[in-house]
Amino acid sequence: MVDLKGQYQDIKEQVNQSISEVLENTAFVNGPEVHNFQKELEDYLGVKHVIPCANGTDALQIAMMGLGLQPGDEVITADFTFAATVEVIALLQLTPVLVDVYPDTFNIDIEAIEKAITPKTKAIVPVHLFGQCANMDAIMAVAEKHNLYVIEDNAQAIGANYTFANGSKKKAGTIGHVGATSFFPSKNLGCYGDGGAIFTNDDDMAHTLRGIVNHGMYERYYHDVVGVNSRLDSIQAAVLRAKLPKLNAYNKARQEAARKYTAALKDHPAIVTPVTVTNVDCNKTNGICDTCDCHVFHQYTLKITNGKRDALAKHLQEMGVPHGIYYPIPLHSQKAYKDSRYNEADFPVTNQLVKEVIALPMHTELEDDQIEFITNKILEFLR
Ligand SMILES: *Cc1c(COP(=O)(O)O)cnc(C)c1O
Repeated sequence: MVDLKGQYQDIKEQVNQSISEVLENTAFVNGPEVHNFQKELEDYLGVKHVIPCANGTDALQIAMMGLGLQPGDEVITADFTFAATVEVIALLQLTPVLVDVYPDTFNIDIEAIEKAITPKTKAIVPVHLFGQCANMDAIMAVAEKHNLYVIEDNAQAIGANYTFANGSKKKAGTIGHVGATSFFPSKNLGCYGDGGAIFTNDDDMAHTLRGIVNHGMYERYYHDVVGVNSRLDSIQAAVLRAKLPKLNAYNKARQEAARKYTAALKDHPAIVTPVTVTNVDCNKTNGICDTCDCHVFHQYTLKITNGKRDALAKHLQEMGVPHGIYYPIPLHSQKAYKDSRYNEADFPVTNQLVKEVIALPMHTELEDDQIEFITNKILEFLR
């Protein structure tokens, strides 16, 4: 699904050198590499504060702790996402409220959010799934109307732009009150282990978050709040510093691969190729935006609408073509997150998507002949 080796070859010298510098100066935790990466990511994202941490799941949890969410508070998020999003809500004894998504973007459904709001609702967690932002104009408006926090789960969309209805742009993850991201190796900006970060434009929130990641300390050995130990180590920061200047090029390479997949697959009647959906008109070819970087294709996800998704997956496996089913089970049906308040009728889209989606290999090193091989195998099978 990903080719981390090819990407490494390209940055090998720089990465090896920065890692050996870290080894030489032994500032393994909170060293200068971490601080420099933080500043560079703040500049790249156009956000006031980046707080590095240990992984994307922690980033979400720390964001919720920083906002002061309390047990029993309801947090609305998408039913169709990676479990980390809902896991941290449950761990903090907040009440996850899962809602359906849109069938075209796979992102959280705004009407479903509004329907799920109760007096106990405190926050909305949109997940920018597969690399494209949720409808942040609408989400921020709903949040403002009901006085809710917005925590963006930006683990899959780092570098994506969001264009507001008024034409202004912001980077994914910097729009809500707090944003969270992951640097897991397979993410668009991945390190060589675990890593994550929290983003905010609010100075007070940034201060709070910096304490929480470090045992609730604002002054050494004075623990003002209950915190966690969640740090990005210097070796990972060194890798991320080598990769950050290339993130735009990486995302362009992903978009190029997506365009080629779509060009090959779009005419098949049982295949629905991914689309970009924005509140403003942008130039599109075959449903994919040409110019705004509104989708950075963490995943390239097809819908197979003739009931043959599982058979296709098996066929691809036999042909040696990697693929992924993200996600095979709606979160509301998972043992850990079942809740008698959920009503199947409220999840028609997720219940359908779990049967139809299949993701193809997506990374920065995809060659034309690989794309051709993969799409030929798919078309041969579905013929
Ligand atoms: C990867 C991911 C996370 C968690 O990130 P980790 O660094 O693996 O903890 C959270 N949410 C989504 C949507 C993800 O894809």
